[in-house]
Amino acid sequence: MVELKGKLIADRIKEEVSSKLEKAPSSYELAIIRIGDNNDQVTYENSAKKKLSEAGINVQSYSFDGNISNDEFYENFKQINSNENVKGILLLKPLPSNIDEIRIAETINPRKDLDGISPYNFYKACQGKEGNLPCTPVAVLEILKGYNIELKGKNAVIVNRSLVVGKSLAMLLLKEDCTVTICHSKTQNLKEITSKADIVIFAIGSPKKFDSTYIKEGAVVIDVSINQDENGKLCGDCDYESMVTKASAITPVPGGVGVVTSMILGKHFVQNL
Ligand code: NAP
Repeated sequence: MVELKGKLIADRIKEEVSSKLEKAPSSYELAIIRIGDNNDQVTYENSAKKKLSEAGINVQSYSFDGNISNDEFYENFKQINSNENVKGILLLKPLPSNIDEIRIAETINPRKDLDGISPYNFYKACQGKEGNLPCTPVAVLEILKGYNIELKGKNAVIVNRSLVVGKSLAMLLLKEDCTVTICHSKTQNLKEITSKADIVIFAIGSPKKFDSTYIKEGAVVIDVSINQDENGKLCGDCDYESMVTKASAITPVPGGVGVVTSMILGKHFVQNL
């Protein structure tokens, strides 16, 4: 059984990022935009900022009052978007309900779109072409490829249909010639479907919900979720101890997908410099 450690992959990406940055002007900046003081967003921002700065990226935070109007935020967003020194943008989500997310997504320069919110980038990915997709599914693919897991012709089941995880990951896996099934909360006989798959990606956000009865012998298991168990300890959607008795490879939580995700921002940032 192989534990798919995120750090190994994140460190390799970090080296690539640092070496690409050597030739870039230090004025180039990665902008993290936040509206309000949501705790999870502030934590994610601080952690991403630390990791990306360590890779040599000039990260700048732009934070706005949680009560900002839609038009005022849009004007500020346009300014950041058109700033020539800003080469990449991460907009922290979820946005307050008064902010028109579609207008922002349509406005962001697709080349600066680090977390795949631009419809143009999703369209390109649907065509099987290069285009920034959300960082989490890209991190999943980096792990699978980084550990040389065979993808061509394999049956991959994704338990999540959100744009930011399931739908985007489906596009990436299709490009790798997987046969992809997307499941969700209304899927019937989920266990029957997941237990036939070569690769199963769990991302529902429910602590230790899935045990080894959900997979076949030798399956590759990717656990995307970051939850807390009843003792407040971080855990994924999988009962790790049970899964390891049957899986051929599995990502731990913490230490799996999450570790790679923020470094994908760096990868997307340097690719257009
Ligand atoms: P989301 O929008 O709430 O999506 C959850 C998905 O799970 C939905 O498609 C939902 O189905 C499905 N689902 C919920 N309960 C289910 C059940 N009992 N059986 C089958 N499917 C079920 O969440 P998200 O933003 O995609 O994030 C998903 C998870 O990934 C969260 O735990 C989040 O913490 C984690 N995440 C991790 C990272 C990382 O870097 N590791 C980054 C982003 C998110 P419906 O569509 O029918 O509701």
